[in-house]
Amino acid sequence: MVLTERELHEIFAHAEKAYPEEACGIVIGKPGDPNTNIVHRCANLANQYHQDDPIRYPRNAKTAYIMDPKSLLRIQSEADAKGFEFVVIYHSHPDHEAYFSETDRELALFDGEPVWPRLRYLIVSVKNGVVSYYKVFSWDSIEKQFTAEPSAVCELID
Ligand SMILES: [Zn+2]
Repeated sequence: MVLTERELHEIFAHAEKAYPEEACGIVIGKPGDPNTNIVHRCANLANQYHQDDPIRYPRNAKTAYIMDPKSLLRIQSEADAKGFEFVVIYHSHPDHEAYFSETDRELALFDGEPVWPRLRYLIVSVKNGVVSYYKVFSWDSIEKQFTAEPSAVCELID
């Protein structure tokens, strides 16, 4: 697993705080060294985009996420300065299962290939305001799709 308990709990706290809207963010770190990981929350601008252009952005923050481009740039330059990479992009599905949706696929791909091939996507299912479980998806270059990593599928007991 590419994340430690500490990052998972930070992500869960964010997902529960954002409920009933989707939370989103990025974990950066030195590849192969989870102890260096830093969790960055991103503002979800889906409501704003939806309000400004409901035809192009039919969904609001309850069923979609759009990471603030300014946060993305700031996180990217911090990662560059430290020699870190994007390790995980996470977001939550309020009152839905943790599956890789068609929209998630569109966001992750450019021209049928992943924007960041080594990046993993973590999706948290939040039900009634409480984190239920999460799944981690990575790019399968043979199947040409994102598949859940079996070892990272985890039911939360507490
Ligand atoms: Zn999603």
